[in-house]
Amino acid sequence: MKKKILLLNLILGLIIISGCASNKKPVEAQYFAFDTYMKVSFFEPKVGKTSAEITGLLINESERLENLLSVTRESSEVFEINSNGSREGLSADVSSLLLLSKEIWEKTGGAFDVSSYPYTKAWGFTTGTERVPDKEELSRLKECVGFSKISFDDKSISLPENGMVDFGGIAKGYLGDVLAEKLIENKVESAMLSLGGNIRVIGNKPTGELWKIGIADPENPTSICGYVSVENTNVVTSGGYERFFVGEDGKEYCHIIDPKTGIPVDNNVASVTVIGECGAICDALSTGVYVLGEEGCEPVLSAFPEYSFIIITKDKKIKISDEIKDSFTLSGEYKVEEITE
Ligand code: AMP
Ligand code: MG
Repeated sequence: MKKKILLLNLILGLIIISGCASNKKPVEAQYFAFDTYMKVSFFEPKVGKTSAEITGLLINESERLENLLSVTRESSEVFEINSNGSREGLSADVSSLLLLSKEIWEKTGGAFDVSSYPYTKAWGFTTGTERVPDKEELSRLKECVGFSKISFDDKSISLPENGMVDFGGIAKGYLGDVLAEKLIENKVESAMLSLGGNIRVIGNKPTGELWKIGIADPENPTSICGYVSVENTNVVTSGGYERFFVGEDGKEYCHIIDPKTGIPVDNNVASVTVIGECGAICDALSTGVYVLGEEGCEPVLSAFPEYSFIIITKDKKIKISDEIKDSFTLSGEYKVEEITE
């Protein structure tokens, strides 16, 4: 079955490859992985593998990581960890994601916490069974949530009773890092990966121009409220608008949960974009900063001086780190403010 999916993905990916190096058009491919559409676009290197071979590599890597990290695929390593509460023998990917998740958990004061999965599951987000759990249920779940209750080293992990982990807030950023490494290894000098909204660019456009990456308008996510001009970096956004449901009480509940309360975040932040070298860090930070909110996030922004932030608030402000404010072009009705770190 696994092989069939892989083959199907490969065929799908290859079928929609278009463009070629000779007429200086990028090679483009789309495929489905991590429950979302992945779009890769790169310029074929002058030496080495063909564009079809490189595309195949990217699709295989995406499939390999999804098979390790999916919380819903019964064959995945994470599914096994969550079902058994422990595992002897961890893949290098899961082990490094645990380490990085711990670091971001510490540095966000617990706002980014991969052990929040019992909450996410109770709200029905990953199973398509959205519902509002009652207070008793949430306070029962509190017993098994909290990164400090997980023990792990590079070879094994042990969860508290009923504890579960979920790398949904960091996995696509990590995937961007892994795919970028594959592209660079294969001498690709110019590429753009759009991994379910997470953007990774390699180099510049072949013309030498910067890549222009649109930042979605949270009030109308099919349009943008501005774009950043960047090279060789990640642009990763978390926003409540990306996935939410309306409860019977008429309230909107988004898929990002405050680990301290077990309740979907509802503060003045509409989206957080993080720009920087490591995709996994950008991804985890965008989720963590979203949880912390406009004021609460300030110490985290200062703790990551190499990363830049664009915070869009529900009252239509765009707060932007000083070092990228000149790279940002506004195209909506927002008031731009500088973040003072
Ligand atoms: P993102 O879209 O990157 O912000 O990630 C959101 C996903 O991360 C959710 O769909 C959950 O799978 C997971 N998640 C939700 N809340 C948190 C949290 N506070 N810390 C870590 N992961 C979370
Ligand atoms: Mg994230």
